[in-house]
Amino acid sequence: MRNEIICDKCKLIISKFEIKTHIITQDEKGIDVQESYFQCPTCGKKYTILISDRKLRLLIQKRVLCLKKIQKAKNKKDEAAMIRNKKKHDRIEKEISDWQGMLTKKYAGK
Ligand SMILES: [Zn+2]
Repeated sequence: MRNEIICDKCKLIISKFEIKTHIITQDEKGIDVQESYFQCPTCGKKYTILISDRKLRLLIQKRVLCLKKIQKAKNKKDEAAMIRNKKKHDRIEKEISDWQGMLTKKYAGK
């Protein structure tokens, strides 16, 4: 994250972020949908950092695993495995960003 942002409501420069997490709701299976956010200390405007549900959290875990595999392949100089995992990583990354977009649309402002 950037080190400071200008609040677009009160124009204060915010340089200290106190990141909070709250549960927005539960999905169909009763699993928490969480939002990480911070608030402008002056006017209280809320800035969302990440909205995550079970699927997103799983995808993020999958991506971490994939990065580890890439590192392993690099250490072994296994070019084929590197390319394979890099492709997989890119696919997961795309999936994460699509799903995040959907979650933001669905839950932002709640
Ligand atoms: Zn503000």
